[in-house]
Amino acid sequence: MLEVHQSHPSKTPAQSAKIRSADVVVVGGGITGKACALGLAQLGLNTIEIAPDLSQITLAPQGLEWGQRIYAFSPSTQKLLAHLQIWDALDHSRIQSVRDMRIYGDRGEKNDQLHLSAFEAGTPQLAWIGESNLIESTLDQASRFQNKLERISDVIDKIEVDAEGSTLHLKNGGAIRAQLVVAADGANSPIRSELGITASEENYSQNAVVANWTCTYPHLETAFQWFLPGGDIVAMLPLPGKQVSMVWSTSPEHAADLLKLDQAQWQERFNSIANGAIGKQLGELSLNSNPVAFPLRKIRATRFIGPESAPKVVLIGDAAHVMHPLAGQGLNLGLRDVAVLLNILGKRESFRSPSDAVLLRRYERQRQGDTSALLWVTDKLKKLFSASSSTERQLRNWGLGMVNKSHFIKQRLIERALGDLDFE
Ligand SMILES: Cc1cc2nc3c(=O)[nH]c(=O)nc-3n(C[C@H](O)[C@H](O)[C@H](O)COP(=O)(O)OP(=O)(O)OC[C@H]3O[C@@H](n4cnc5c(N)ncnc54)[C@H](O)[C@@H]3O)c2cc1C
Repeated sequence: MLEVHQSHPSKTPAQSAKIRSADVVVVGGGITGKACALGLAQLGLNTIEIAPDLSQITLAPQGLEWGQRIYAFSPSTQKLLAHLQIWDALDHSRIQSVRDMRIYGDRGEKNDQLHLSAFEAGTPQLAWIGESNLIESTLDQASRFQNKLERISDVIDKIEVDAEGSTLHLKNGGAIRAQLVVAADGANSPIRSELGITASEENYSQNAVVANWTCTYPHLETAFQWFLPGGDIVAMLPLPGKQVSMVWSTSPEHAADLLKLDQAQWQERFNSIANGAIGKQLGELSLNSNPVAFPLRKIRATRFIGPESAPKVVLIGDAAHVMHPLAGQGLNLGLRDVAVLLNILGKRESFRSPSDAVLLRRYERQRQGDTSALLWVTDKLKKLFSASSSTERQLRNWGLGMVNKSHFIKQRLIERALGDLDFE
């Protein structure tokens, strides 16, 4: 278990021969940690990234096998990856742009449909769909050539925070002294809990079953989502060619049941929901990967920076917030944390260190609004569509149709989905 100590050392720990130093240490080897470490090093900050699995370089996906973790990337993510010189280096034959989103009420009928279109919104696409390992492998490649960035495969055992910075003790021995620590250590963030940063947490009692499918009809660059009676949500996201990636959010018991289905049973299951709308849209579906399930919950840290007495630590990504995947925004939100942090540190006055409390408070203020809004909307949508009384069902189906008729509301929804981001 990680231990945290708030200390006021009489001599600077960096003076000790055993302790190495860096401007910033990023803890975490997920996409947010990797992107943040690369971006900080590109700013000229001496950066060390620490995570247990950094010794292996993620292999780029190839051929007909598609990664298990597929994400919807918003334009704000595309902008950050372009800024990091990653976007153009990606294999674009494995990325599918999304030009339409069709969201259906539980009758699967046209009148209960919300249709968001890139054409109507005056934008080339609404999002992109791609594999996690595609992004990770490209981030790994770029990190190898970044001489301000060192990666260490290890786990943080203990963190000591004082007025000047933090000392991180590694499980395999050794310690690192840093002015700023970026905690990108995921939903169960050991750094968050050991610093005493509380988090509100809600278990949705749902698991998401994900699997990739080949379909017989073209998906027409459309992301489909069906809200089913009882609270299940099925999303089919387009992949290059006639392929789709499914995210089916359902009760843990039903998820366990889905994982056991064979091809013919899956087909029956699809035919039995949303009045067979999935088959009508996509034709016959053949399984293209091993389905896997992820538990779903909502988490929001009460603070996104370390304690008032010595902030010195920033939370990003799932360490700061976790949301239901129905809007496909969790990672996008985490990468907006990265973008804002890079913007603030990149523009800092020369007399301010990267862990200057003014900068960290600026980061926290800027991230709170975006995070609260997105967590609130996804949570309310999830709950609205879980309600099972017939009045509520009629109301939400009618609501989708009404929203669909309002150009103004649709435009606002699209603006939120695109995510606003500027690099200066
Ligand atoms: C089914 C599903 C579908 C989703 N779809 C989408 C989508 O379409 N679009 C989207 O934007 N988001 C989506 N998300 C959300 C997305 O998966 C997460 O938001 C994202 O992966 C979080 O990344 P992260 O880097 O913050 O954390 P993680 O990927 O969890 O990384 C945490 C890292 O910290 C390391 N670590 C932990 N403890 C320590 C320690 N003590 N010392 C050192 N290292 C440590 C871990 O090893 C790991 O490398 C989805 C989520 C689910 C469940």
